[in-house]
Amino acid sequence: MRDIQIGGLVSFTTIDYPGKLAAVLFLTGCPLRCAYCSNPHLLSPRDGEYDPARVFEWLQSRVGKLEAVVFSGGEALMQSDAAIDYMRRVRELGFKIGLHTNGFYPETLKRAIDTIDWVGLDFKATREKYPDLTGQHIAYDNMIRSLDVWLESGKDFEVRVTCDPRYITKSDLLEISQLLSGRGVKNLAIQKYVPHFEQENQTTTPAQREQFFCDNELRDQINNQIENVIWRE
Ligand code: SF4
Repeated sequence: MRDIQIGGLVSFTTIDYPGKLAAVLFLTGCPLRCAYCSNPHLLSPRDGEYDPARVFEWLQSRVGKLEAVVFSGGEALMQSDAAIDYMRRVRELGFKIGLHTNGFYPETLKRAIDTIDWVGLDFKATREKYPDLTGQHIAYDNMIRSLDVWLESGKDFEVRVTCDPRYITKSDLLEISQLLSGRGVKNLAIQKYVPHFEQENQTTTPAQREQFFCDNELRDQINNQIENVIWRE
């Protein structure tokens, strides 16, 4: 087994893999620098404080108690084949494998198709706003390629949009939902933005954060476009 760098672990969760009891492993390293990142300590590809071999032993002890293991980050696929090898070994224990991803590595995702059972893919903003929000010019195009890779796989997934009012408007949200509907996406989670590290000159108000959720017309339009929409308030 190649070494992966694990910077965090949640031993039990019911909300990170749909319908399954899961553990979450947070891998270090991320190519993006999102303005609202809640895991800044995981962004640099540093050594993780968890020993992968010991985590694997612990997962062996969870067989029959947990159903899935979710790889999150950071961006788990930044660790490329080391991450895929580790996922494969964990899957051989009988767990479903989930991935929370920003979609920056479509080629790696393609190589991992047979290893991953479910994906939660971040769709962060419209193409114009992506560089400003993520600090990366190619992040949007890569994410769309990842979306297409996963659509082609025919496997389960959910697209997630976090409604940070500094980077997304109601009409942006509608535009994103139309694009997803046109591509045949069936599961969309619209998540309320929760501020963690706002800059002083860039704060948001509760009303700005809630505007997406109390607009019934917007909700109806999006609910009519996509088969399953979850509004995570
Ligand atoms: S993709 Fe996720 S982990 Fe990476 S910077 Fe953005 S919010 Fe943080």
